[in-house]
Amino acid sequence: MGEQTKTLTARDKQVIWHPYTQHKTMAAPIPVVKGEGVYLVNENGNKYIDAISSWWTNIHGHAHPFIAQKIFEQAQQLEHVIFAGCTHEPAVRLAEKILGLLQGNFSRIFYSDNGSTAVEVGIKMAIQFHKNKGQHQRTKVLALTHAYHGDTFGSMSVSGRGVFTEAFNDFLFDVVFVNLPELHESPEFTMPAIDPAEIACFIYEPLVQGAGGMRMYHASALQKILTFCKQEGIICIADEVMTGFYRTGKLFASDYVPEKPDIICLSKGLTGGSLPLAITACTHTIFEAFLDNNLRSTFFHGHSFTANPLACAAALASLELLEQPLCQENIAYLVEQNREFVQHLQRTNYGQPILNVRSLGTILAFELHSDKKEYLDKVKEETMEQTLEQGVLLRPLGNTLYIMPPYCITAVQLEKVYATIDKLLHR
Ligand code: PMP
Repeated sequence: MGEQTKTLTARDKQVIWHPYTQHKTMAAPIPVVKGEGVYLVNENGNKYIDAISSWWTNIHGHAHPFIAQKIFEQAQQLEHVIFAGCTHEPAVRLAEKILGLLQGNFSRIFYSDNGSTAVEVGIKMAIQFHKNKGQHQRTKVLALTHAYHGDTFGSMSVSGRGVFTEAFNDFLFDVVFVNLPELHESPEFTMPAIDPAEIACFIYEPLVQGAGGMRMYHASALQKILTFCKQEGIICIADEVMTGFYRTGKLFASDYVPEKPDIICLSKGLTGGSLPLAITACTHTIFEAFLDNNLRSTFFHGHSFTANPLACAAALASLELLEQPLCQENIAYLVEQNREFVQHLQRTNYGQPILNVRSLGTILAFELHSDKKEYLDKVKEETMEQTLEQGVLLRPLGNTLYIMPPYCITAVQLEKVYATIDKLLHR
C-alpha cells in the first residue's frame, strides 16, 4: 500500500514513539486533522470536546483566528533570532506585560521552551544565587510529596518519586520532601527534620498538584511554609506551569496566598496553548546576585529557541484575549458551573463510591473507587474509551478523573461534558 492510501494511524504506527505511551498495549491514537474552538476533529469528521485542554495548555480553543493572525504577522516580520546578544519587540513587550501582571517584587523575565525547562531554570537560578553569594552550604532542595515538575533530570529530581521517575531514581539528586494535607483533611502538617541553613530553595505547585492527581491543598498551609522559608533565606519557586492564567479562578494561584514567591515558572496557557514557550520570572534580589565583573557569576543557561518571536507574539495575543470581558465572563461561568457540578456529584447515588469531589476555579476532579490508587490503574483506558464514544476527550490520572476545559467552552458543550461524566458514573 502506498503511503498516500494508508490511514494516518497506520502510518503513525510505523514511525512514531508517543509520550507516556506503552506501544505494546496502546489504543490507536485519534487522528486529529483539525482543531476548532473546543473541538478536535478526526479524519472521519467526528468531533471530540477537548475537556482537558490538550495537556492543560489550551485556554481559548483550538486554531483561534486572532492568535493565528498574530503568529502569521510576526512570521512575516521576524521568525527567530538568537537571544544572546540580540533582542526584539515581542520578547520585551511580553516581559513588560507579564511583570505588570505578577504580584510581588518580580523584575526580570528569563525565557525558555516548556514547563520542564522553566523549572530547570528556576532551580538553577536559586542554586547559583546562593553560590554567587558565597553561601556554599545551601545544597538541598525542599519540595512537596506528590509533586510533578517535569521530565528533565532536574525537574524529575524535585518531583515526587513514583512510576514516572522509577527508572531514573539512582540518577536524581536528593530532595527533602514535605507532605501537605489535602483540602478535605486538617491543614496541619509536619516539617521534616532539616537544617534550614542547608536548603537552597523550596519548589511547589501552588494549591493544586496537577499530575500528582489534581491534589488540592490548603492555602493556609502554603502560607505557613512560605513564611518559614522567607525567614530562613530559602528561595521560593512557584511552579505555575499548570495553575497560571486563571486555571484556579485567579490569574495566578499564588494570588490566593499573601506571601509571594521569589521565582515563578509559567508555560502551557502562556501562548493560549498554541506554541511552546516558558517564562521563569525572578525578583531583583535574585537578578542582582548574578551581576559581577567576574564572568563566573553569569547564569550560563540558554536554549536555541529562547524567546522565539512567534511564540512571544502568540503569548501577547493570548493575553489580549484573556483580558477581554467575554473571556472573563466565560471563566466566571465555568468556575460557577464546576461548583454546581461538584454538588451534583456529591448528592447523586451512582451505586459506586465517588471520592473526594472537589473543584478550584476551572479545574474539577474526583476519584473513582479502585483497589490500586496509582497512575497505572486500568480505570484510565476504560474511562477514556467510554467518554470518547460520547464525543468527549478525557485522560484520567490513574483513578483520578478531572476536567479542565478551554475557557471558551459554551454552556451546551459544558453540559455535554458533565452529562458524559454522569453517564459514565451511572454504568
Ligand atoms: N510543572 C507542572 C506543574 C506541570 O503540570 C508540567 C506539565 N504537566 C510541567 C511542569 C512540565 O511541563 P512540560 O510538559 O511543558 O515540560
